[in-house]
Amino acid sequence: MTVLFDLHTHSTYSSGGALIRHAKGSVLQNVQTAASKSIGVGISDHGPGHSFFGLNPKKYARLNSEIEAANSAAGRRLALLGVEANLMDADGRTDIDLLPVQPEIYLMGYHKGVRISTKAGRALLLPSLFAPKKSREVMTALERYPIDVLTHPGAYVPVDMRRIASAAYRLGVVLELNDKHPLSGDDIRTALAAGAHFVLSSDAHSPENVGRVNRAVGEAKRAKVPKEKIVNSGAYKFDRGLRIDRLGDWVTELTHFSTGQK
Ligand SMILES: [Zn+2]
Ligand SMILES: [Zn+2]
Repeated sequence: MTVLFDLHTHSTYSSGGALIRHAKGSVLQNVQTAASKSIGVGISDHGPGHSFFGLNPKKYARLNSEIEAANSAAGRRLALLGVEANLMDADGRTDIDLLPVQPEIYLMGYHKGVRISTKAGRALLLPSLFAPKKSREVMTALERYPIDVLTHPGAYVPVDMRRIASAAYRLGVVLELNDKHPLSGDDIRTALAAGAHFVLSSDAHSPENVGRVNRAVGEAKRAKVPKEKIVNSGAYKFDRGLRIDRLGDWVTELTHFSTGQK
């Protein structure tokens, strides 16, 4: 299966200064790889709430202009400004509150290394603090914010897949099949039974991995996810009431591009 777009890639903007090199590729390099594969790409760097890799809100203007420059160089609108936002507290608050701009695509997930607020104060999010399932917080965040995609559900922190997937279905949010963080067949089937839609993402932290979703495709096939349920498979119709449906025009352009190239 070739995907039409990969919404979840990181650029050097996700790196915490000179000392912490979290992602290797420049915006231009990610977009060049996407162009070579005739796919669209989301530049979805970590939201400002991440202590180590979060993007300083002051840098969004520069990031945005790099995306525009890369699109001009490609001769078409291949790249969108995205964010991989972080869940920040038990009330479902996220660092979308800290963004100085409105991204074109909103991804959100649980991450280690986020300073979360609890009743006792602020603490660094560690898996041990969150051994119990954290489904309610995620569902509240999906309700409160315009999140399009829940990234790697269940990674770092366990969730109740049936509840999460039902909420995602009700709210029009897509669940991610992340190439780096696999979902079990049972979880995928549970989500499917709850009505969920999926997106295949690389979560690339270097340019050569942009668009690489082989493992996620394998999971989807084994769990017998219909292609129509995968929003970047080419078989999904952008009129099913998902939040991501607003990207329909962009996807139509991409389809022309990729069929013109093949
Ligand atoms: Zn992530
Ligand atoms: Zn990521």
